[in-house]
Amino acid sequence: MDKTKANFSTCVEQAKIAAAFPGALSNTDLMKKLDPTLAKYGYGKTTLVATSLCCHGVNRPLEKALAKSYEQPFVMGGLAGFPFGGVTSFGAMAHHIPDGGSCLVVYGPHVGVDAYGSVGTVNRRGRAKGGSCCGSAAAALGKIRKGAMVPQQEAPKELPTTDSLDAQQAYVDAQLAPYATKLLAADDRNVELPYALFDAQKQMMESIVAKGAGAMEGTGNIALLGGIQINTPEGISDYFLPLTFELRNNRGQKMKNLMSTMA
Ligand SMILES: [Zn+2]
Repeated sequence: MDKTKANFSTCVEQAKIAAAFPGALSNTDLMKKLDPTLAKYGYGKTTLVATSLCCHGVNRPLEKALAKSYEQPFVMGGLAGFPFGGVTSFGAMAHHIPDGGSCLVVYGPHVGVDAYGSVGTVNRRGRAKGGSCCGSAAAALGKIRKGAMVPQQEAPKELPTTDSLDAQQAYVDAQLAPYATKLLAADDRNVELPYALFDAQKQMMESIVAKGAGAMEGTGNIALLGGIQINTPEGISDYFLPLTFELRNNRGQKMKNLMSTMA
């Protein structure tokens, strides 16, 4: 891509990100806000980071940015960003927090915005054609579109019998089913999709923290940062749209809403 084209596509893409995901911050800007905010609460060298982000490789740059400030993250996530590690992984993570330290949990779905400003696709290294991003989320949405997933009032408490060779995808499908009506009615389903996934993941993460906080051994805190990760073409910074940011104590009780620090 020559420089003029690159500049043009960057503008197209940034305009689309600002319109579809207002408040999204580049990874660099996110870290510039995150570090000083958490430092006020004792975060730094003794912080343990846990992430719940999709398996897809495009999500690793955010983890690398977090590792620069803190440590390599403890990974709780699986397909589409759901915290498949559950209460057990939160407990295991809590046992690894250095003495006197706290933990930061960063979670959420992801969505690609390609060089043409299309939402739901990403330009992949070595491939002329863009691909679905997030692929797992797009597969679940595809099933809803075809009527294979019946709209539900809420996610099922128990999973239907499923092929253990594709268990995570079956779970993603089931978690998205309650949002079917809203998704089908959306002006842009690919924009609505990560918001629906975030809503489902927030409920799941908060339930995990409520149940797993007992594993916190010291007096450290739990910072929860949830949002939508926006993947961009190679050479352009990824973005993160913070949708919830709060500090909880070691019993999982909310102490402070930190969202204003992300403005
Ligand atoms: Zn994905």
